[in-house]
Amino acid sequence: MRVETLEKQFDLIVIGAGTGGYTAAICAAREGYSVCILEPREAGGTCLNRGCIPTKTLMHSAQLYRELREAEKFGISAAEVTLDTERLYARKDEVVSQLRAGIEGLLKANKVEYIAEKGEITDIHGDIKTVKTASYVLKAPKILVATGSKPFVPPIPGTDLPGVVTSDEILSWKGGLPASLAIIGGGVIGVEIATIFSDLGKRVVLIEALERLLPGMDREISQNLSMILKRRGVEIFTSATVESIIKLQNNYVNLESDGAEGENVHETLQIDLKRKGEQVGVQAGLVLVAVGRRGYLEGLFAEGQQPESDRGLVVDEYFETSVPGVYAVGDIVSGGIQLAHMAGAQAHNAVAHMVGKEPELDLGVVPSCVYTNPEIAAVGLSEAQAKELGIKVRVGKYPMSGNGKTVIQGGERGFIKLVFDADSTVLLGAQLMCERATDLVSELATAIVNKLTAKQLERVIRPHPTFSEAVSEAAAGGFGKSIYIK
Ligand code: NAD
Repeated sequence: MRVETLEKQFDLIVIGAGTGGYTAAICAAREGYSVCILEPREAGGTCLNRGCIPTKTLMHSAQLYRELREAEKFGISAAEVTLDTERLYARKDEVVSQLRAGIEGLLKANKVEYIAEKGEITDIHGDIKTVKTASYVLKAPKILVATGSKPFVPPIPGTDLPGVVTSDEILSWKGGLPASLAIIGGGVIGVEIATIFSDLGKRVVLIEALERLLPGMDREISQNLSMILKRRGVEIFTSATVESIIKLQNNYVNLESDGAEGENVHETLQIDLKRKGEQVGVQAGLVLVAVGRRGYLEGLFAEGQQPESDRGLVVDEYFETSVPGVYAVGDIVSGGIQLAHMAGAQAHNAVAHMVGKEPELDLGVVPSCVYTNPEIAAVGLSEAQAKELGIKVRVGKYPMSGNGKTVIQGGERGFIKLVFDADSTVLLGAQLMCERATDLVSELATAIVNKLTAKQLERVIRPHPTFSEAVSEAAAGGFGKSIYIK
């Protein structure tokens, strides 16, 4: 039977309705473009459906669960605190649905046509480009690709065993959670999921190939985090090479079952790893593989139509690929920073370029946040990075043990570290490990983008008692002026 395909014309076809895609679609529509957006899955992409939002929702519940169990120290006795995994995940779904409805509403309000189908780019070389879906032939002078990324599973024997999962599966879990989790990869996903499962009272083992957790972050942050996680019972293996994963016994409980809490308690999987020449076997009920993500290019371009790519699409400073009129933003960009707020910012700038305007956002200053407890955030240069670049720096550091709000809340050990250019005293970078670090970092990003000096940061009165007071002290501390640093 012949399927009728309808031809439609637009000014811009956006492929993928994640943060990069929907931001670009709305920005372009507001510039007067006629826009369609293609998305075969749910609107909101990885961040909303399989990433940031589900993780932080589960994290919020898990943290509350731990705090309730430890409430005695705050003068509260909370007896019989129990965990309802089904409700925990149901709340995550509610939060995601609510936010997804918001995005769908915004697309509609901006008259972006939503096509819930997968698109294949079949002709990019003319002035008018073609994208085919199951029902339509879409034509436009411009295409923006924002197809995102998917978890990368390395070729380690055993990664195809039942019970070996990626973040996609662990965030959409059905049934009872296992009593133990081993995580391969001590990067951002690894430490966030470790925090959630440890707060939920599970046994957690973290395995990292390099010599420290969060190897891309300031060394002191890695050391502090390791210490805090270990104190909470997380077992950490760094400088570890995973050789294989094997199944230990035959009575593995069906992970899809609606089992009661603790049903999948058996440690049915074993990770064989080598660390400092020593062979170690780590056993767990579930294994999470979190060793990075790869851009999603499969089936996107018809043969001979793909622009230059190198583990993702290669783009210029305006996010235009090697083919004029074809743009790409977000995780699909080769060598890019895989963060939702970066994808959104790139989308703003890409659309500005399409419509002939000056891009407004400074993409050189990108805050990165890790939602552990305490939170971690960094922006700009670390002391080590500045030194590598030959920049002479002065560092102001304030330990949060001296911060009133942190003591009130029984916060963990942490700090705010500010890195200044030694001569001009302009702020170059900030590393934070403290309560609300992920909110506080924006103030410091503003300072870096606007090239504020230590004196300009210090001139601001920050209210007491707040976490942000520590910014004043760290700024003053870099120049020996903090009254709270001995
Ligand atoms: P990642 O790059 O942050 O960390 C992967 C880690 O796995 C690295 O530390 C790496 O050394 C290690 N590794 C690689 N191969 C290994 C192996 N065989 N055995 C043991 N360790 C190995 O990647 P991720 O944690 O998977 O996250 C993917 C992307 O998603 C990242 O770009 C991250 O920034 C983003 N993300 C961001 C947030 C956030 O902003 N809060 C949260 C989650 C994910």
